[in-house]
Amino acid sequence: MKSSKYLKSKFINSLKDKGIKNEFVLDALATIPREAFIEPALRTRAYDQDALPIGCSQTISSPYIVAKMTEIIYETDNMGSVLEIGTGCGYQTAILSSLFDDVISIERIETLHIRAKKTLSSFNLKNVTLIHGDGYEGYPQQSYFDAIIITAAPDRIPDKLVAQLNQNGRMILPLHHNGSQKLYRLKNTKNGIHKKDIDDVRFVPMLEGKA
Ligand code: SAH
Repeated sequence: MKSSKYLKSKFINSLKDKGIKNEFVLDALATIPREAFIEPALRTRAYDQDALPIGCSQTISSPYIVAKMTEIIYETDNMGSVLEIGTGCGYQTAILSSLFDDVISIERIETLHIRAKKTLSSFNLKNVTLIHGDGYEGYPQQSYFDAIIITAAPDRIPDKLVAQLNQNGRMILPLHHNGSQKLYRLKNTKNGIHKKDIDDVRFVPMLEGKA
C-alpha cells in the first residue's frame, strides 16, 4: 500500500495534468481528505479520478469535476457567500468552506443530509449551514450569493436561483440539452446574465421536492 502522501501528490498532479491551475483550489483538494466522505468499502479508491456511489442512488462527483466547478466560480476578492445545491456526501461543501466566507448547502434527500451533517461535524467547520430542502427554491432567507453551484442537472436554468445571484455573482450548473448534458457558467453582469458553455458532463438529475 502506497503512503497517503504519495497518493495525495499523485492525485494533485493528475488534477494539474487535466488542466486545473488555481493554487487555492488545488490546496483545498490537497487538504480535505476525500476518503472521509466515502463509505469504508470504497475508500481505497478515494484518490482515483472517479465518481463513486454515496447511497440513495447518488454519486460523489469526480475530483476533476469538483475542482473544475470550484475553479470556475473562484474570483479573487469576491468570495463571500456561496450556495450549493446538492450536498450529497458533503465533499464539495467542505472544499467550498475552505475558500468562501459562508457556505449554505441544500440537499433534498434527508438520509444524505443527515449523513453529511455527521461527516462534516468532525471537521468542525464554522462557516457551513446544511439545509434539508428543495434547491429549486434556493435560500431566500439569505439572498444574494457571490456564487451558486448546482451539482445535479436540471432541465432548465432555475429562475429563482438566478434571482439570488449578487451583482458579479457566478453560477455553475449542468443542464440537460438534447439528450445529453452540458456544464454552463452564468454571470450576473451589469448588462444582464452572461452564459458560457464549458463542457459535456454527466450528473444525476435535479429533482423537485424533498425526499
Ligand atoms: N456535491 C455532491 C454531489 C452529489 S450528487 C457531492 O460532492 O457528494 C447530487 C446531489 O443533488 C444528490 O445528493 C441529490 O439528492 C441532490 N439533489 C437533486 N435535486 C435536488 C434539489 N432539487 N435540491 C437539493 N438537492 C438536490
